[in-house]
Amino acid sequence: MLKNKSALVTGSTSGIGLGLARALARAGANVMLNGFGDAAAIELLRRELATATGVQVLHHPADVSKPAEVAAMVAATEQAFGGVDVLINNAGIQFVSPVEDFPLERWAAIQDVILNASFYSIRAALPGMKRRNWGRIINLVSTHGLVASPFKSAYVAAKHGQVGLTKSVALEVAEVGITCNAICPGYVLTPLVQGQIESQARVNNLPPERVIKEVILAVQPTKRFVEIEDIAALAVFLCSDAAKSITGAAIPIDGGWTAR
Ligand code: NAD
Repeated sequence: MLKNKSALVTGSTSGIGLGLARALARAGANVMLNGFGDAAAIELLRRELATATGVQVLHHPADVSKPAEVAAMVAATEQAFGGVDVLINNAGIQFVSPVEDFPLERWAAIQDVILNASFYSIRAALPGMKRRNWGRIINLVSTHGLVASPFKSAYVAAKHGQVGLTKSVALEVAEVGITCNAICPGYVLTPLVQGQIESQARVNNLPPERVIKEVILAVQPTKRFVEIEDIAALAVFLCSDAAKSITGAAIPIDGGWTAR
């Protein structure tokens, strides 16, 4: 389905981003991976994915909070694959704290990695998409782009900002074959959520197993974590021709969380 297309997925050395990269490669797209981690492990991942799918897979080490590095990553993807047809802004970090104690540098880092980075990459990738009259931009947001939770002020603010950015970009490019959507997952068991379980345990003074049951999955009516494969399947669908009229949407995939 995505043969002769190429995808750039930020934060794809781990968790949801890696699942998105795998699904896009399986659908036929050449993939630029991005994210931090052990260089040898990333190289192994890159080679395994290329061998398993037969597409080209590269990795770019850009720190997405740095505009010049993001621009260089977009340019490198265009150079290697002929364009960025699919852009997924997935890189994210989290920090949990009461608002009055929230460290200023953690607030700034969360805005930079989540909201500002999405702007930097969209800004850099759009001219090429416009030239080709085709593009799919997906911001991997969160239920926290639609509703809030306590102690997550920076993350909730950045994620709500990403939904606003999604809508604005969608309107700007609606007539030129480019869609821009937000996927808003509920809780997914990834390293990022493992970290939250530990910090929520500290903030709420609860053991981790009670945090999973009483804090994390309490908000998710299915009482199950959302699976990475389900999010990846939705992203691949949004890249299809059948999804050409879905734009400016913030799509929940949250086990019923926002139905309450
Ligand atoms: P993760 O920690 O497993 O992966 C995060 C990825 O982002 C890693 O590859 C990491 O190297 C990369 N990254 C972090 N900072 C970066 C930077 N400055 N530059 C480049 N890459 C950077 O997390 P995850 O749970 O897979 O989260 C992925 C996205 O999904 C995030 O935006 C997160 O907010 C969102 N999300 C997660 C959940 C969940 O429950 N896990 C739910 C909803 C939304």
